[in-house]
Amino acid sequence: MAYESLYRKYRSKDFGDLVGQRHVTQTLMNAIAGGRVAHAYLFCGPRGTGKTSTARVLAKALNCQAASSPTSDPCDACPACLSIRAGTAMDVIEIDAASNRNIDDIRQLREQVGYPPVELRYKFYIVDEVHQLTRDSFNAFLKTLEEPPGHVIFVLCTTDPHQLPATILSRCQRFDFHRITLEDIVERLRWVVGQEGWTVEDEALYLVARTANGGLRDALSLLDQAASYAGTSITAGHVREILGGIDFALLSDFTEKILRKDANGLFLLIEQIMADGKDVPQLVAELIHYWRNLLRATIGGAETLVELNPEQRKALGAQARATTQPAIMRAVTLLCEAENELRWNSQQRLVLELTSLRMMAEEVPAPVIVPAAAAVAAPAAPVPVPAAELPPTPAVEAPSAANPLTLPQVKRSWPAFIEWMGKSPNLERLRTLIVEKCIPMGMLDSALTLSTASGFARSMFYDRPKVKSTLELCLSTYFKTPLTAAIQVVEESEEPPAAAPAAPPPATDPAPAAVPADEPARDIVGERMREVFAGSEEMTE
Ligand SMILES: [Zn+2]
Repeated sequence: MAYESLYRKYRSKDFGDLVGQRHVTQTLMNAIAGGRVAHAYLFCGPRGTGKTSTARVLAKALNCQAASSPTSDPCDACPACLSIRAGTAMDVIEIDAASNRNIDDIRQLREQVGYPPVELRYKFYIVDEVHQLTRDSFNAFLKTLEEPPGHVIFVLCTTDPHQLPATILSRCQRFDFHRITLEDIVERLRWVVGQEGWTVEDEALYLVARTANGGLRDALSLLDQAASYAGTSITAGHVREILGGIDFALLSDFTEKILRKDANGLFLLIEQIMADGKDVPQLVAELIHYWRNLLRATIGGAETLVELNPEQRKALGAQARATTQPAIMRAVTLLCEAENELRWNSQQRLVLELTSLRMMAEEVPAPVIVPAAAAVAAPAAPVPVPAAELPPTPAVEAPSAANPLTLPQVKRSWPAFIEWMGKSPNLERLRTLIVEKCIPMGMLDSALTLSTASGFARSMFYDRPKVKSTLELCLSTYFKTPLTAAIQVVEESEEPPAAAPAAPPPATDPAPAAVPADEPARDIVGERMREVFAGSEEMTE
């Protein structure tokens, strides 16, 4: 018999069995009990968090033949439940929008929707990665979604709801799936291990769960992999060997050298890491986790880190005392940027070396522990580029409270500002890829809003915190007053009027809805930062 993967074998059977999404399952159960089932649902959330599993359980709940009407507690034994679980039910249709994204596929779907179900109560469509549909397909799909026959239920799943047109969003009942917590994943893994009769070290379970980064599917796949490598008795060492042998000692050593600003020692260590053939993206991901633990240690003490053993907690606690919260947050930002850069930059060693140097070089101006409110209220000090690298500014009087900078002034000076940036080779890319493609559109106090027709310029700006902070530094330097910047995409035809528009949106809200659907403008680093700092809101609020 073919081997059945753990993920398939232990797929959730009913709502109570779904891990870590209680806010979703409870609402669905209430809706079923109250006879208020919607005809279209949108399940959003990171991969492996149970979107399609929940959709299948919902299909069972609505179709279970052990009950005379939809039930929140499907039996998992009747022909309907069994066929849905096995994926053989004719009326439960799973579509991968990534490979069926064209208008013809959707037209075909529209025709089929009209036929009544063959064997179940409801015809149930699960459309995975729905954001991949083309614009025409969305439009065609919309008609079906507006007036579906009574026997049809749609569940649309997506990892990226920003890319969905508002017309689709407004027709679905939306549920946001969260990343599953480390503890929930470990608990589930422990249960699976018990079912299988395996012996697995606790440290190994935590390592697997952490690597999976909130996705249960990835966690179970890794556990599968560990079992095929090590058999039924799995240690943390086995898991590490699969992951490329990045262990606590290495992460601790790396961090120690950063904290001691031992550049020479660090470069030797990196040389060793490369010689050992370790995976650099994996190392950076583990470092991010390690530094997040440092942060947690500064907040709640190292004893809160249940995934570490007592010696590890002690070592990490000592490092946490040797640094500050702002320094840790800066380091994590740099690591997240590096993680993003490693996706496309093949010079992995160089990225790692430069990131390490930056982690050591950037001095933290703030005193030891800054209360979060004070840290935010302080004026923006985006100084990633030493001022010496910027060209000298023209000798004009700095704006003041009595004589503040206005939008017309910024507009008049814009060509000169671009020319000024051109004097520094360091700013070349920023100038040509972003600033030249933007024009000032609005200004509210010190928040300048730029408009552009280039979705690329906008995504460059928001994908990299460094780009944003460097541009803000240039603006603040040139106009001699602290300025923040936001960029909005406008259609080419609707150039903003010459007169200053009324209040622009606040610069803190990057208004992602303005991006065309085919323009991936995700704030990747920002998203990662939010993940990393999830659970330590007192630091980021
Ligand atoms: Zn049933």
